[in-house]
Amino acid sequence: MTHEISAFIQQHEQTVIPLSIDYSVKFWELSINGTPEREKALVDAKERYLKVYSNKSDFRQLQGWRSKASQLPAVEGRVLKLIYDTYVPHQIDDEVLRDIVERETEIENLFNTFRAGFEGGHASDNELRDILHTETSITRRKAAWEASKQVGHAVAPKLLELIKIRNREAKKLGYPDYFSMMFELQELNEQWVFSLFDRLDKASLTAFAEMKRSLDAALKTRYVINDSECYPWLYADPFFQEFPSAGASESLDNVFKGRDIQALTRSHYESIGLNVDDLMKAADLYEREGKSQHAFCLDVDHAGDVRVLCNIRDNERWMSTMLHEFGHAVYDKYHDPAIPFTLRTPAHILTTEAIAMLNGRMSKNPEWLTTIGGLSAGDARRLSATAFLTLRSEMLIFLRWALTLVRFERELYRNPDQDLNRLWWEHVERYQMVTPPANRNLPDWASKNHLATSPAYYQNYVLGELMASQLLQFIHYKVVCAESYVGNAQVGTYLVERVFKPGARQEWNEMIRLATGEELRPDHFVRQFV
Ligand SMILES: [Zn+2]
Repeated sequence: MTHEISAFIQQHEQTVIPLSIDYSVKFWELSINGTPEREKALVDAKERYLKVYSNKSDFRQLQGWRSKASQLPAVEGRVLKLIYDTYVPHQIDDEVLRDIVERETEIENLFNTFRAGFEGGHASDNELRDILHTETSITRRKAAWEASKQVGHAVAPKLLELIKIRNREAKKLGYPDYFSMMFELQELNEQWVFSLFDRLDKASLTAFAEMKRSLDAALKTRYVINDSECYPWLYADPFFQEFPSAGASESLDNVFKGRDIQALTRSHYESIGLNVDDLMKAADLYEREGKSQHAFCLDVDHAGDVRVLCNIRDNERWMSTMLHEFGHAVYDKYHDPAIPFTLRTPAHILTTEAIAMLNGRMSKNPEWLTTIGGLSAGDARRLSATAFLTLRSEMLIFLRWALTLVRFERELYRNPDQDLNRLWWEHVERYQMVTPPANRNLPDWASKNHLATSPAYYQNYVLGELMASQLLQFIHYKVVCAESYVGNAQVGTYLVERVFKPGARQEWNEMIRLATGEELRPDHFVRQFV
């Protein structure tokens, strides 16, 4: 029996490797140039790849073998479980599968290529963000914020149809809805995660409210308004995910003005003993017409072909984003070639986010600003209080935003027919303390691309931040034995050996326990930022 299982696993990997590579390559090609032909090519490649996982007789066989996983060697048992988990959501009819892939790709491409109507012309995501970042006229800020929601109004009806199809198929597979299914297949206990979120909500409430009160006051002074309300166009991005530049982070932007963001990213990783030269060569880093406006890292073959896409500008946001994306990239690069393809991947989405976040935070770290950023000791001293305050505010803002989105998303899947426009603003008001615009009944929620293109994903960012803080604590006190991260090659060695190379060999929380001596806890994050 175990022999039969080994043979199946080998056969499966041989089938899936070329299809998975082809799918990744097509995804990359569409992202760097969004043409209809490339969109069609991606749909075809994705369908060929996913078809493997919709095979009914394979699935029945896998179900039969599940109880025998414990008799297998640990590595094979783990591979079997992960393969089974990938089959589950694809046990749907071919036509339905094709329909879903087409709908997903259509929405993805709409996000990639949409240009909002603004001031009589068209504006890109980056252009609207620039306005929200720097404009001081509140009327123009409001117009830019409203324009940033247009994509959502185009996406919403398509997304709602897709959500209903996802739910219908999840129910057929025995889950209450798609969201719950995705939690289980991501090895996340929904109840545990949401009770953790309740604790984070309580722990951060006062600190967030205080921070926001002074932020709002600073922003209102800057825009010369004496409104008692805190409308969403006060903030520097369409969803109040980020800390706005009210004087504070402006000075951090100045640090990066005219600087070579790519070279700084390389120096950072070099300093912790991780070489990224090959990753830089494979990357597509600068803005172009028709190219995806976002940032991501793609592990094409689990064998070294790792590609990063960014749209670099010389500001702090893109410095942090570059450090973040190359965090994903080093995780993928420094895998263990001796383990099977299926395991040559991060233990979990949250663990790769943790590595990306741990490094993405560095652009606001005083030590990093001197060692890598090249600031004089005096400048760094002057900026360090601002830098820490910025990072702390960012963490609080991001946490409250993520609580908003994840709770909304759960409700969205539990009942997509409810008044979602109202539900959205209720969540925003409660967790982010932002005043909903008067009489607004539009699907503003749908302009957040994650809801459409990365469903049931956002909780991983919160869990990732918690893990990043836990890792940092461990690195400071057990690895380098000092409160220092940059410039220490032991950091890279530790990450490669204890986090990257284990891949998906263990369940994520077991990997964290082995790497840091304890399972994931919120305490380190709370101590660091709240
Ligand atoms: Zn990421």
